[in-house]
Amino acid sequence: MAAARLAGTFVITPPRSSSSLFRRSLVARHLHSQSFSPVPIERNSLPQLHRKPIANVHRHHRTPQRLHSTKNMSAQADHPALLIPGPIEFDDAVLQSMSHYSESHVGAPFVNTFGETLGMLRKLFQTTDAASQPFVLSGSGTLGWDQVAANLTEPGDEVLVLHTGYFADSFADCFEAYGVKATQLKAPIGDRPQLDEIEKALKEKDYKLITVTHTDTSTGVLSEIESLSKLVHKVSPNTLVVVDGVCSVGCEEIRFDDWSIDCVLTATQKAIGAPAGLSIVMASGRAIERFQSRKTPPAAYFASWKNWLPIMKNYEAKKPSYFATPSPQLIHALHTALTQILSRPLSERFQLHREASDKVKKAVTELGLKQLASKRENQANGMTAIYLPEGMAPPDVLPSLLKKGVIFAGGLHKEIATKYIRFGHMGVSITDPNRDDVDRALKALKDGLAEVGYKAPN
Ligand SMILES: *Cc1c(COP(=O)(O)O)cnc(C)c1O
Repeated sequence: MAAARLAGTFVITPPRSSSSLFRRSLVARHLHSQSFSPVPIERNSLPQLHRKPIANVHRHHRTPQRLHSTKNMSAQADHPALLIPGPIEFDDAVLQSMSHYSESHVGAPFVNTFGETLGMLRKLFQTTDAASQPFVLSGSGTLGWDQVAANLTEPGDEVLVLHTGYFADSFADCFEAYGVKATQLKAPIGDRPQLDEIEKALKEKDYKLITVTHTDTSTGVLSEIESLSKLVHKVSPNTLVVVDGVCSVGCEEIRFDDWSIDCVLTATQKAIGAPAGLSIVMASGRAIERFQSRKTPPAAYFASWKNWLPIMKNYEAKKPSYFATPSPQLIHALHTALTQILSRPLSERFQLHREASDKVKKAVTELGLKQLASKRENQANGMTAIYLPEGMAPPDVLPSLLKKGVIFAGGLHKEIATKYIRFGHMGVSITDPNRDDVDRALKALKDGLAEVGYKAPN
């Protein structure tokens, strides 16, 4: 069991070329496939949906033992491909690393795993500055908003929230809950605030921080972080740059140090590809200083960095420490997901997402459909928000997609929610060469629309 656990912490997606790490992963997969029994919760509740089996020839990197254990591409129960903008599909190894025996949250093995996880987050965010501080707390992405509002602002402060959809409204609400005044700078649906408008807004008031949603999951709009951060540092150097990266970390590049970002918040269930349940934040040295020089204590208890900062530092130093019990199983899943992500160059991962996104956007256009984000530079690479044909609503289309084994999401932007659908293309659906999720989804979309009477242009 000890060997299985040790190996389990190194499980990675088989890379396209072999390496010793790759061989170790085979051992891990073998050990795991014998101990794992998926709970087929969806088998009885959903129509029979079968994946096209993957020919053995494409699976040369998998062990024969593993082939015996599953007829399909994964050891998971048959299920429709979850292609919503988070949660996304899991790699088997990520899922299996949660079936870990119970261990003490202050014991050396777990503290070691947590510490390594924090170290890997530094790599994912491309920060080598020792003053940067990662936080991993139990909670969802929303807890990141609370962490920012509770720790980086004080009651009465003014903040500027760039609005590209639903998530900016909610972040602004969160600030208001802490007595902070949030001013929103809104763009038309499908667009983003322009730099000259942002510059003008920054000159009007002394904003303590500015927030930007990297990928707005409600509209599929991508914001440009590097030029925005440059502008903020030039025209309002005391304003902290905060990025909501819940739907972008893991599929869009973020160069935390090079772009002089002060805080990025994210979660496990979107492009990182681990189960929901962890709030991840990376704070700059400047953000930590801002926190440490506050005049009032944070108006939160669980979200307070006063409580978590020493704990996170201890974990990374591999010292046992306790403020509130973390979830060892979720940390194991995150550890495995990050090990997989970092087993190949990040640039390759982002390129794969861009290529898949180009393919989806091209197919959508060929179907005669429009996207909420009409300009390519505004379009996210991990998801696509697609207007349905005139007169059609998500309930007309989504059930037919489900019958074809694909789950998309309905609209989320309140003004137009009934007019569009969202297709998430992140994580293993893109990076695992054995999966054909995107192709199947595009075919399902085309066939599904035709079934309800839509005629695509030739
Ligand atoms: C999903 C999402 C959130 C909220 O995260 P939860 O995990 O649902 O709490 C916040 N911001 C963005 C951009 C998101 O996509």
